[in-house]
Formats: sequence, structure tokens, C-alpha cells
Amino acid sequence: CGIVGYVGDKESAPILVSGLKKLEYRGYDSAGVAVVNRNQLNVVRATGKLRNLENRVVADQPQGNIGIGHTRWATHGRPSDENAHPHTYKNVAVVHNGIIENHLALKEQLRAKGHVFSSETDTEVFAHLISDELEAGKELPDAVRGALDQVKGTYALAVVSALDPHRIVCTKNASPMVLGLGEGQNFIASDVPAVLEHTRDIVYMEEGDLAVVTAARVDVYTRQGQKVNRPTRRIDWTP
Ligand code: GLU
Repeated sequence: CGIVGYVGDKESAPILVSGLKKLEYRGYDSAGVAVVNRNQLNVVRATGKLRNLENRVVADQPQGNIGIGHTRWATHGRPSDENAHPHTYKNVAVVHNGIIENHLALKEQLRAKGHVFSSETDTEVFAHLISDELEAGKELPDAVRGALDQVKGTYALAVVSALDPHRIVCTKNASPMVLGLGEGQNFIASDVPAVLEHTRDIVYMEEGDLAVVTAARVDVYTRQGQKVNRPTRRIDWTP
């Protein structure tokens, strides 16, 4: 339902939780964050109010200057800690808004290859597909493209990998995603209010766009892999 991401020089977990709070008005049943520290993924999730997630984040202190967060509005799989995003498999963590229509068929194919699933969600297939693409030798952006080739459905998707701990890859199809441009730090979000306390320079991603976001830069590509310049808009309203 709500997505936020951060990469920069600050601790990401508090920034992610604060961004998710700005998206609370959309409604949700659970929430979580995944942050990357060197080559380690740290995931914290909690059912219910963001306060529950915040308490766990304060207790666990997950470290990392890059991370993604999510508030979930369940479509496939009941509200629970296990079904809360981010979903992980091996070194990959994903958050997703939308619905993957062919998730059952994909799960069957992946199970036949030995994959074991830890949630009932449609979303989890993304983590497995991207992990397999990485193991086949692809770089993270191409691994995400490889997964997108296999899914049918709607998505705003953000991905981090412990094997590639300096960039977020995000993409959208029929669900909104924006990029927030900072100095020495950058943001992603499903909606502008999540990042407005940090930046007012916003890029609206277009259908099929895939963005590679580091602390220093944001690069946007079309679904065909062509680099594109999307306009930066200065937001002058306050929610
Ligand atoms: N279909 C996904 C799920 O049920 C995403 C739901 C959402 O957009 O929050 O986990």
C-alpha cells in the first residue's frame, strides 16, 4: 500500500518509519523495513499500527544507510508478521504494491526448483525470481528486469540486495512511484508526502520505468532499457 526507500549517509530505519507515518492515511494492516549494512540484510516487521514497528525498530536498532519500507494492505495472505513486507529470499528484499496475477504458477515452478516460501503473499515470488537472476550472474537492475519478464500484474516495486548494498532498484506498472532528489542522499516513495520533509524535488516515474537510485545519483530507464530524462518537479504544496 505504502512504499518508502532511502539511500544516503544517515541511518535509514528511522527515516523509513517516519516516511511510512506520512502514508498512514492510506490505511494498512502491517508494516516493515529492510535495511542493508555492508553485506547483511536486517528486516523488522510488525502487524498492526506503525507504533508496533517503531517499537521493534527502537529495540533492534537495525543498522544501514540504505533501506526500503512498506505499509501493507493485504490482498493475498492474511495480515500477519510473516506476510508483512519486506519479503526476502537469500540476499534480496522487496516491497510491493499491487497484485501479481500469476503468482501461483510462478510459485509452483520455483518450488519445483527447490525454493521454499515463507509467506502466503503474491509478492514473495519477486524476491525468489530476482535472487535466481542474480545467481545466474546478472547485475541487480537486470535481475529485476528478468523477474519483470516473468510476472503478470500490477506493481510498484522496490528492491535491495545484500550482494549490491549501495543501490535501490525500483519500478512501476499501474501503481505510482516517485523519486525524491536530495544532496548526498535520495529517496523513493509511492506518494510524495512520504519524502517532503527531506526534499521537494520530485521525479514522477512513468509506466514501465525502472530507476537505479544511489546516494549520489538517480538514473531512470524505460522498460526497454533506454536511459531517459524525466522532469524534476518542485513541489510547492504542503499536505
Ligand atoms: N499483494 C500484496 C500483498 O498482499 C501487496 C499489497 C499492498 O499493495 O499493500 O502482500
